[in-house]
Amino acid sequence: MKESNADQSRFRSICVFCGSSPGRKKSFQDAAVELGMELVQRKIDLVYGGGSIGLMGLISHTVHHWGGKVLGIIPRTLMRKELTGETVGEVTIVENMHQRKAEMCCRSDAFIALPGGYGTLEELLEVISWAQLGIHNKPVGLLNVDGYYNSLLVLIDSAVNEGFITPTHRRLFVYSSTAKELVQKLEARSLSL
Ligand code: AMP
Repeated sequence: MKESNADQSRFRSICVFCGSSPGRKKSFQDAAVELGMELVQRKIDLVYGGGSIGLMGLISHTVHHWGGKVLGIIPRTLMRKELTGETVGEVTIVENMHQRKAEMCCRSDAFIALPGGYGTLEELLEVISWAQLGIHNKPVGLLNVDGYYNSLLVLIDSAVNEGFITPTHRRLFVYSSTAKELVQKLEARSLSL
């Protein structure tokens, strides 16, 4: 893979939340691979939930295959291979889901959500609400592949209109439809924090 200093990032690691399923559209799977390649090119380590199922497997195998560092953080109860599959790279075993999320947060410099289900949504909204409360000041990005997150963004706009989210906190979300642009926007955001 082509490497240049211009591709180097100020992030050492990014935590990626994503589906434990692959999703129906090939574009979701392509986006997981594309984001993995982008991390490798910029020498950013991948922090994620461990395992090799669904989009989690695609991104972790891509990063590992191209020589990038992968850190999976996995609760003991999810370690069974039939639940999670083989994990590539380094694995940190934690006692429960709460400890996992705390560990994911302190081991990364930014967060990205690819398409996913309840698990992904819960992880994404938790790091956004932690940013709102000032628990961390790391940027949070949505990889809005094929408009997957449009309806979430509409819901959040409605929460702003109804007075539950401030316009300032609405701007906590950084989003793009491509991995390259999203990482660039997160870099720019982290410089302004
Ligand atoms: P979901 O979007 O519901 O498929 O959940 C995916 C997210 O929740 C990932 O980012 C993981 O951190 C976590 N997760 C859900 N299921 C698993 C699993 N079987 N093995 C490892 N992590 C999982």
